Amino acid sequence: MSQRNTGISVRNEYNKTTMGQIKVLDQNMINMIAAGEVIERPASVVKELMENSIDAGATKITVSVEDGGRRLISVSDNSSGMDSDDLAQAFDPHTTSKIKTSKDLSGISTLGFRGEALASIASIAQVKAVSKTKDSASAHCVEIDCGEQSTVQPCSGDYGTTIQVRDLFYKLPARRKFLRTANTEMGHITEQLIRLALAHSSLDMELTHNGKEVYRLSGQQDNRQRISELFPSAISEDLIETESNEKGLHISAFLCKPGTSRTSNKFQYIFLNGRFIRDKFISHAIKEAYHGILEPNRYPVVFLFLQMPCEDYDVNVHPTKIEVRFYNANLVHSQILGCLREKILGMDHQTRARLPITPDAAERPIPAATSRRSREIADAMAEFLRKHKPTHTQQHVNSMLTTHHKEPPFGHKQVTESVDHSAPPITALELKFLQIHDSFIVEQTDDGFLVIDQHALHERIIFENLRRRIQNGVLESQRLLVPETFELTESQIDVLENHPNLMKALGIEIAPFGPRTYAIQAFPVLLKRAVPAEFVQDLIDLLDSQSVESDPERLLDAVLSLAACKAAIKAGQKLSNSEIEQLLSDRKSLEFADRCPHGRPTTIKFSIEELEKQFKRT
Ligand code: ADP
Ligand code: MG
Repeated sequence: MSQRNTGISVRNEYNKTTMGQIKVLDQNMINMIAAGEVIERPASVVKELMENSIDAGATKITVSVEDGGRRLISVSDNSSGMDSDDLAQAFDPHTTSKIKTSKDLSGISTLGFRGEALASIASIAQVKAVSKTKDSASAHCVEIDCGEQSTVQPCSGDYGTTIQVRDLFYKLPARRKFLRTANTEMGHITEQLIRLALAHSSLDMELTHNGKEVYRLSGQQDNRQRISELFPSAISEDLIETESNEKGLHISAFLCKPGTSRTSNKFQYIFLNGRFIRDKFISHAIKEAYHGILEPNRYPVVFLFLQMPCEDYDVNVHPTKIEVRFYNANLVHSQILGCLREKILGMDHQTRARLPITPDAAERPIPAATSRRSREIADAMAEFLRKHKPTHTQQHVNSMLTTHHKEPPFGHKQVTESVDHSAPPITALELKFLQIHDSFIVEQTDDGFLVIDQHALHERIIFENLRRRIQNGVLESQRLLVPETFELTESQIDVLENHPNLMKALGIEIAPFGPRTYAIQAFPVLLKRAVPAEFVQDLIDLLDSQSVESDPERLLDAVLSLAACKAAIKAGQKLSNSEIEQLLSDRKSLEFADRCPHGRPTTIKFSIEELEKQFKRT
């Protein structure tokens, strides 16, 4: 074990020691070494103590921390408590009330069971524990200073348990120096609290740092309420819920739309029977579920609550129990994938523009009476104009409706009244789209406007078109008047010759044309914008980079994405009105129009409501 892990400076001693002088380590040394595995930093203490409180049936847990947990960590609960005998034993190594025989190991339903957390913590800090059971007349307390335990004494105290841990690693400078700033340590502590708070949403929880409240979570919440409280706005607004219950696995998932994705999987909270876990099968299932909807290097935000019989997995595989071993990992993988994928495919994938709220806008109060009155007036006007529609073009009515709806709340009556009701219809407004920077299309919608990435959208259109046609047979191809030739290396020739069916399905005809030279004789019509030789070269590179056992459907997806990318309208390309119209109408008939085949958004939606907020019109 490394010096950093154990915190014990053994290397120099070891060098001086000759072989054949094996000694049994004393118990405190054993505990200190064990502490190296279980207690990495203050956050580990918080986790272990809170888990003990939950196992003991607490409904309320209060955590107070000083100096990022380096000076003090105190965890109080209202659990069943410990009597004086239990208190005397709890800090001894390998003492636990949670398992009794080896049989119990195969169905662990508590968070702890190894009986080493308290002993580990007490071997590396100053600990004071006060506990009282319902039946005992008084509370009892015990103190342990780096393994030196006092006798248990009666003391005053409430029902439940309070454990205070001071000066973590104070006798182990080698470990203490690895502690980071109070802020960093506090970040780890809050993360542990968040995990437990999500896993146990019915519990009251409080966290204070240097006397200041960090979290106060009221109990009796359901999962959605808890998530919303811990992750306000951005995440909780977008949460989509789904559930499944089959073959002994109950899945309750809260999924964010792709627009809320992150650069790491830190925001994937997976809980198994109330325990936060990390699992590569589950992470893979989540990634697969978002395939094609999210860019490959982005991670979706997901909260997954799993329940299954404790006998169906082993938690005794990792000291901090963050990993488990599923006896039927394939079943877990396929059920999670199935449950999530179905919901995700049915989601609205449109990316909504999030305009920044300026402090100015947030600070300016809108008098309730004024805004209500202006809304009433706007509604009455809207109703009036709807009834008198024939006298104006629809666009003009819309523009007036919009103007009225936004009667300024700050008494700018002049502006409102200056709207000219007799103005002639504006015919230019018939056109509801516009290309900007030769790259984006702005389209007006009923409640705002869309900004569309012309390349990304066209990619998706071609991709779906290709896929549909390939599923119904081979792609229609056209003979090239002058065959295009290109050179290949031996290994590229190998790749090419290994995929004759794929080439045929794509409608690409290639024939040898000389040593290591090939000629493209026919090429798919749908890819008319692509340069044949360039496309085929890229295709061979792609096939070469895919692993041999890669799933054929996934391979076809990759090939079609490449084809779509090559054949799509590029950014910087000027489009005619009829080309734009065609794109917009294709968009309407597409199922996944809001994401390109690589998972990037094609469209960002701006709502009038957001704009009104930004212009301070509401
Ligand atoms: P484990 O949790 O693996 O059993 P610990 O060292 O964390 O081991 O705790 C040892 C024992 O101390 C527990 O099994 C439990 O009986 C008792 N205990 C610890 N914390 C509490 C608590 N907050 N309330 C009641 N009992 C507790
Ligand atoms: Mg424990």
